[in-house]
Order: sequence, then structure tokens, then C-alpha cells
Amino acid sequence: MNIFEKCESNVRSYCRNFPDIFHRAKGSMIYSDSGKEYIDFFAGAGALNYGHNHDYIKQKVMSYLDADGIAHALDMYTSAKEKFLAKFDEVALSSTLDYRIQFCGPTGTNAVEAALKLARKVKQRAGIFSFMGAYHGMTLGSLAISGNIGIRAGAIGTSSNVTFMPYPYGFMETFDTIEYIETVLNDVNSGIEKPAAIIFETVQAEGGVVVAPIDWMLRLRKLCDEHDILLICDDIQVGCGRIGSFFSFERADIVPDMVVLSKSISGYGFPMSLLLIKPELDIWEPGEHNGTFRGNQLAFIGATAALEYRESSNLEQDVKTKELFLKNFLSQEIAPISEKIAIRGIGMIWGIDVKNFGGNTFARSITSRCFELGLIVELAGRNDTVIKILPPLVIDMSTLQRGCSIIKAAFHDSLAV
Ligand code: PMP
Repeated sequence: MNIFEKCESNVRSYCRNFPDIFHRAKGSMIYSDSGKEYIDFFAGAGALNYGHNHDYIKQKVMSYLDADGIAHALDMYTSAKEKFLAKFDEVALSSTLDYRIQFCGPTGTNAVEAALKLARKVKQRAGIFSFMGAYHGMTLGSLAISGNIGIRAGAIGTSSNVTFMPYPYGFMETFDTIEYIETVLNDVNSGIEKPAAIIFETVQAEGGVVVAPIDWMLRLRKLCDEHDILLICDDIQVGCGRIGSFFSFERADIVPDMVVLSKSISGYGFPMSLLLIKPELDIWEPGEHNGTFRGNQLAFIGATAALEYRESSNLEQDVKTKELFLKNFLSQEIAPISEKIAIRGIGMIWGIDVKNFGGNTFARSITSRCFELGLIVELAGRNDTVIKILPPLVIDMSTLQRGCSIIKAAFHDSLAV
């Protein structure tokens, strides 16, 4: 480890929780130099819905490289981009989901920044409403709309024009949060001006796997319409099939004005982020939001192949089957371990909330023990007290079961200490 400690910035993070050197990965398995193998319940923080080095996608990427396909291309027209646009239009969009696609690059937060900038330009208002518990990225605009005060410490003074509204979580599950927003907007003395946009996640993933109710999303959409506010859905972590349907908001049958996608969109872990914009809102001037790495050609190839794979497989049904398995396992095998445990989730993102054990020592002891036993799983939520289960969607049932058994063993081992 010495070279990392000697040379790499103190800011490094995941490597601290998974202290091994990895060199190979396939499907849902990762292999380390020390000869250990790990089941992956983290999937590159959600960037690997199709697993590591998916055969079909890999073969498309290899052929492209082999044919000296153009690698870097700014945002020129390329045949790789042409095929991606055609496939995305065919598989993900429809007459109801009619969006223009903006390539932002290269990572999720870049698309969030573009969404905020465009919303402010369209509405000529500075304000943004975000939600408590939200996570949208680490660049200054995205950080300003993220709820975690700890990670905002270094971004002093950048969160002006952002107002955090309560998300239906904890005691606020029984509090009418939409009515609260409505009241704020209608009260001429609320001190909070009408925002350009409201940005939300249908499942707050980093926020601790908090699933928004369908009715809440329907009312949020209606509120935005009634108050002339744009609705932006950040589908970076739970889009691309994570909960079954391609977009997570399809569950509520709503159409956001803008959608932010990244992580698993490229299919192979390549950097790619997209902003989907309702056509009438696409008022950018040419080149007004520019950048060098907005057209990673390998990402186009990977993303097209991933969509082809999605079309030819039964991924949505597969997610439903595994959702049922995870739900049963967690409620029947983990929840009964202690009444301090709460379970939440949907599709293939699940959280085991252990905040009632106090602090995050217990949560960290579980994930550390999992790692020792050969499972990579991360924490999320307030003070890192939620064990977040995020396997590749394509994981086979026996590996999924093995990973779950490790979690159960880690609970018993940690409680026995
Ligand atoms: N939004 C959500 C919902 C996320 O989960 C993330 C990443 N965890 C981001 C935005 C930021 O994406 P990136 O880390 O690629 O900038």
C-alpha cells in the first residue's frame, strides 16, 4: 500500500474501506493481487448495472478499438454517437418521454451542473429547491444542492439560492411535505422566492436508500406544473434499470422536465453523463455549455451495446425476481436479528438501516467484516449508518445468495464481539 499512501492525496476514499489491490473483475466478482476474490455488492457505486466486463458489451468495444475507431472526438458527429442516439431514441425514449439529449462530460455532477444552469436560464430565476438527504455530486453547484453538511465543509459560501425541503423520511413520512412546499410557495411572507427548479431523486441512494412514494412524486409533478417550476429528476444512481424500468420515475408515470443520467448509462463503467431536456426547454445557444470530454466514443459504443443487451434480455423481469429475493432475505433473515434494524428498498437497491445502534461504528464493523469474508458493500445515509446493497443487475442467483449469506454472517459476528 505504501506507494498509495506516499503519493496519493489524502482525499482518496473508497480504497480506505476496501484495502486490497484489485486487478481483474468479471460479472459480479472482483479479484485482488493477494489472491482473494470478492463478490461485488457495490457495482462501482452504481456504474456497473451490467456487471464487470460484460461479454456482449466487451466484444463491441474490442471490435471498435481493433478497427481504429475514432477515440477522442470532442462533440463532432461520429458514427458511434449516431448509433447511440438512434438506439437511445428507440429503447429509452417515446412520444411521452420526448427529450433532447445533451452530452455533458464526463461524470454525473457535470450533467447536474448543466441542468441547474439551463433551468436558471429558462426561468430567469436563481433559486433551486432540493431535498434534505439529497446527493447530487461534488462540484460546487451540485454540492450546494446536496444535503450532507460534512461533505460541503470545503465549499464555503456556495449554497446561496438553494432551499432544502423535507423529503418523506423519518418523522417527515407522516408529515405532508408537499403541502409544506405548497405553503412556502403560496405564502408571500415565507421569505423563500419561487425557484427555477426542484431537483429530486426517486430513491435517495446516498441519502440512505429512501424510496419516495408514488403519490408523493405525482403531487410533486402537479405542484411544479401549477407553480411554473421545472422538475429535474436525478436518475444517476437509480436509473438505467436499477429498479426495473429504464427510468426510475416511470414507476410514478410522471415526466420530469429534465433528467440527469450517468453511472450505468455507458454499460461498461466508461465516463458518460447526459442531460435530457424537454425540446421546448432546449434554449442553449450553440456551444454555450461546452467541454473537451463530452463525447467519449467508447462510452457511446458501450452504451449502445448495453441498450441492445437490455432489449434482447429480460432484465426488467430479472430485476423483479431479484427484488423479491432481496426483500424476503432482508425481512426474514436480517430484520429479525434485532428490532433496531430497519429495511428499505426497491428493485435492486436496498438499505439495512442500523442507526439505532448509535454512531456508525456498528455499520462500519458490518461492512469491514463483509470485506474480510469476501464481499464488497458500502455505507450510505446519515452518518454512514445504512448498509447499501447495490449488486450488478445481472448477478446470478447463487452469487446473490452467497453475498447475502456473508451479510448475515457479518451481523452475527459483529453482534458477538
Ligand atoms: N447524483 C446522484 C444521485 C448520485 O448518486 C451521484 C454519485 N453518487 C451523483 C449525482 C454524482 O455523480 P458523479 O460522482 O459521477 O459526479
